[in-house]
Amino acid sequence: MQRVGFVGWRGMVGSVLLERMRAEGDFRGFEPVFFTTSNVGGAPPAVGLDAPPLADAGDLAALSGLDVVVSCQGGDYTTATHGPLRARGWRGAWIDAASTLRMRDDAVIILDPVNRDVIDRAVDAGVRDFIGGNCTVSLMLMVMAGPIRAGMVEWISSMTYQAASGAGAKNMQELVRQMQVLGERAGTLATDPATGALALDSNVQETLRSDAYPVREFGVPLAASLIPWIDKAVADGQTREEWKGHVEANKILSLSPEVPIDGLCVRVGSMRCHSQALTIKLRRDVPIPELEAAIRASNEWAKIVPNEPDATRRDLTPVTVAGTLDVKIGRLHAMRMGKDHVAAFTVGDQLLWGAAEPLRRMLKLWLAR
Ligand code: NAP
Repeated sequence: MQRVGFVGWRGMVGSVLLERMRAEGDFRGFEPVFFTTSNVGGAPPAVGLDAPPLADAGDLAALSGLDVVVSCQGGDYTTATHGPLRARGWRGAWIDAASTLRMRDDAVIILDPVNRDVIDRAVDAGVRDFIGGNCTVSLMLMVMAGPIRAGMVEWISSMTYQAASGAGAKNMQELVRQMQVLGERAGTLATDPATGALALDSNVQETLRSDAYPVREFGVPLAASLIPWIDKAVADGQTREEWKGHVEANKILSLSPEVPIDGLCVRVGSMRCHSQALTIKLRRDVPIPELEAAIRASNEWAKIVPNEPDATRRDLTPVTVAGTLDVKIGRLHAMRMGKDHVAAFTVGDQLLWGAAEPLRRMLKLWLAR
């Protein structure tokens, strides 16, 4: 029986992965081993299969005995472990949520609803490193792969609105703590109908600027504000998060010639789900119904929301989409710049298609080979 190691299962992505695997009845037909960087010897999670106590995620000998490693632990762990493990001659499958290995020639970015052909070719060619894509990139392709593959798209500009959970479990806690502090300090100013707007605003601004405001993880306030910078700076004024948009999307779909994709990535105070406002430059005037048909052809999870106020407010929000596999796209309309420029807004659960789901499906695909 194949042995599958799970590293990082306690984090945000790992927890969602386990939840999805339980829901789909995936814990059967293999022997799971759970690893930890903080609690060696602790109890493994309940998954309906016997598993030994938590093993040390840094123990290369233990990892070498596995057929598959699924890591949701993060880039530092991948950097510290993947190379040394391969250097020992380990030939198992490495399935990872971190970005570290994504752009390597000997790794494939997995998003099987849109690039199963690319994955199959990589497996046949002997590739053993299967890496989940950046969350916003994967979510964009879940709705845009159809139009791109149909040759309709000249370029895309994506302006993102990314949730706090995209930064991990500790950041989610900090967002809620920030909200809590705002509420505590506002006190009755937030509930008394006689409160003047300016009094409430001054109170909130004072809290946001006070030393007591909890900003350890994000570095600056997120609740009642936003952060127009994600990850580190790279060349040409971009952030690394923005750089990923072009390089990863083109690698995922194996596009040649490439389709330029660029924009700004912004962290906002939503808890879960990443949203993006897209400007889509089409190669020709494409009537909206034809574009919608191409979007629907992307895969069964791409869902169109009519460009109407009630439908948009009800269906095109993080609140509606969180916890579901649907990736929604709406606000579709030709822009003032010409009919070959289309505006759209899309939202999807970044912890599902943007992180855990491609990993879960790759593991299944690999074990079923
Ligand atoms: P995370 O929540 O910070 O979890 C990573 C590890 O942190 C856990 O496995 C756990 O390791 C440790 N940890 C420390 N304190 C914790 C706490 N209070 N609760 C839970 N775990 C805690 O990171 P993540 O967001 O899942 O991201 C993992 C990787 O996936 C990263 O490379 C990230 O870039 C990538 N990714 C994330 C998202 C997303 O939306 N979050 C999307 C796509 C890709 P031990 O159990 O060993 O202590």
